Amino acid sequence: MLGPPGVGKGTQAKMLVQALGLKHIASGELFRRNQTRGTDLGVKAQGYISLGNLVPDEITIAMVLEEVLSEPSKDGFILDGFPRNMVQVESLHQALKDIETNIDCAVLLAVPRDELLKRLTGRRLCTKCQANYHLMSSPPGRSGLCNHCDSPLYQREDDMSIAVNTRLEVYYSETRPIIDYYDSLGCLRQIDGVGAVGEVAYRVSNSC
Ligand code: ADP
Ligand code: ZN
Repeated sequence: MLGPPGVGKGTQAKMLVQALGLKHIASGELFRRNQTRGTDLGVKAQGYISLGNLVPDEITIAMVLEEVLSEPSKDGFILDGFPRNMVQVESLHQALKDIETNIDCAVLLAVPRDELLKRLTGRRLCTKCQANYHLMSSPPGRSGLCNHCDSPLYQREDDMSIAVNTRLEVYYSETRPIIDYYDSLGCLRQIDGVGAVGEVAYRVSNSC
């Protein structure tokens, strides 16, 4: 799943995972899990993430490839948030070659920049079950509390406006070029990410 921060990669990946039984490998979630547990990796990544920068490749690549290679699922997997630059692309393809597999489809979700900013700054997450809310488009039933488990909601530090601007800049400078690479392989599918979650999911599932 490719596309800028806030475009809905995680939401769409979760829908595809349910529909197709794939393994979901989300680099941002792997980092947040490490941060919650207070692991060395989580501590090292914290400063980069809170400022909206990429975590260095030597940390990120090892973390994600371990997940890709640990239980190679026969039905495949969805990568969400990785790769994000050409070094990561090359490491990924080398690792996949070693296990004789490949990327079938690169789904690029597109949404205008002002919509991305609204989505990111209004996003709230459950502290316990990670359920996703939005203050305007999908608010919880009771303000500040999760509909599923009653736990308090929080705002990701990197969804606050300074880090959001950096994340968008980093996306356009470092991640955009990998789109041309997947396009040149002939496996890029560009999807309009504006609309209800179910509508976008329908477009995505018809594209691959
Ligand atoms: P989003 O896609 O909405 O920006 P993620 O949850 O995917 O959010 O990522 C959050 C942060 O984790 C990123 O801003 C970055 O600091 C770090 N991160 C995630 N994936 C990578 C990656 N592939 N390479 C480097 N840093 C990453
Ligand atoms: Zn919850």
